[in-house]
Amino acid sequence: MTKMDDIPFLDLQAAYRELKSDIDNAVQRVLESGYYILGPEVEAFEDEYASYCEAGYAVGVGNGLDALVLALRAVGLHPGDEVIVPSHTYIATWLAVSQCSATPVPVEPRESTYNIDPERIEAAITSRTRAIVPVHLYGQPADLGPILSIARRHNLRVVEDAAQAHGARYKGRRIGAHGDAVAWSFYPGKNLGALGDGGAVTTDDASIAERIRLLRNYGSREKYVHEAQGVNSRLDPIQAAVLRVKLSVLDQWNQRRRDLAARYADTLTGFDIVLPSVPDWAEPVWHLFVIRTKARDTLQTRLNQAGIGTIIHYPIPPHAQQAYESLKLEDKAFPIATRLAEEVLSLPIGPHLNNDAPVVVANVLKEDRP
Ligand SMILES: *Cc1c(COP(=O)(O)O)cnc(C)c1O
Repeated sequence: MTKMDDIPFLDLQAAYRELKSDIDNAVQRVLESGYYILGPEVEAFEDEYASYCEAGYAVGVGNGLDALVLALRAVGLHPGDEVIVPSHTYIATWLAVSQCSATPVPVEPRESTYNIDPERIEAAITSRTRAIVPVHLYGQPADLGPILSIARRHNLRVVEDAAQAHGARYKGRRIGAHGDAVAWSFYPGKNLGALGDGGAVTTDDASIAERIRLLRNYGSREKYVHEAQGVNSRLDPIQAAVLRVKLSVLDQWNQRRRDLAARYADTLTGFDIVLPSVPDWAEPVWHLFVIRTKARDTLQTRLNQAGIGTIIHYPIPPHAQQAYESLKLEDKAFPIATRLAEEVLSLPIGPHLNNDAPVVVANVLKEDRP
């Protein structure tokens, strides 16, 4: 047997191969242009991405974490503020808040969608709360309607973490400008992935966009004139050129993910696992296909033995990480996040995954049945 039967969790080389000539040409164009920091390629991507996201503005930055940090700074977060974050998320959401010398205040998810539960948010609001950061986890939009009305009622800013949700829609409208600012990552494995680090912030607010443009470039609009204590976090023009190529196929590639998700839903029904559930107002883009089972570790081992790559997103919730020891957040205060970390398992999904993968996974599950 060759390795032909193996099903990798994600095949990034296949993504490059499909677009090779367009990507090679795009990179070549930048190399010959003489613009190696910001410039026309970054501006062109920003325009194209803003319109794709149905947002007024897009500002390219160095990575997804910086996108969150700069968005939080731009909406007016100050040291000592509190920010409501999901208890179940990638740690970057929390780290962004901490980088602003503010405190992440975790709120538990709805078990059915894995996204922050709007009904639990108000109990976490204090006089110091300045913002809410909903995460569109696994590619499925959080329930933005109630989150935005809570924010309005309490005069809070909303910064969305959309690092996993390129192309997703909430009630028919693209993720991109429901909240005050939306942070994106173009880490290679994301639905819209660069060939290195990259990120962006989208917004409908011209002053927020302007603030981020300033902050990402040393707080400077005019060379050697510094209006704010900014950072160096600019989207690289080579990455911008690659992203323009990738953006042109994003809808098509998201459709392939959708087809695979539908096949998983068909073939995996009837087993003792919890499948993803999609509210009727959500149009997810299936960054990840996450199932739940109490027998997670055994199942992962079995799939692994059958050559099927899986990953746990995420094995340790942020509150239980050593990095957040000082907040003294106990597991018993976050039972849902704690349980999800023990039960979730991400199956292979991606635009270059073989269509038969869901059947292969189902066959492994069948062997396990008594
Ligand atoms: C990937 C990711 C980030 C961070 O993006 P980077 O580009 O790696 O900094 C933030 N939040 C979530 C939910 C992510 O998945």
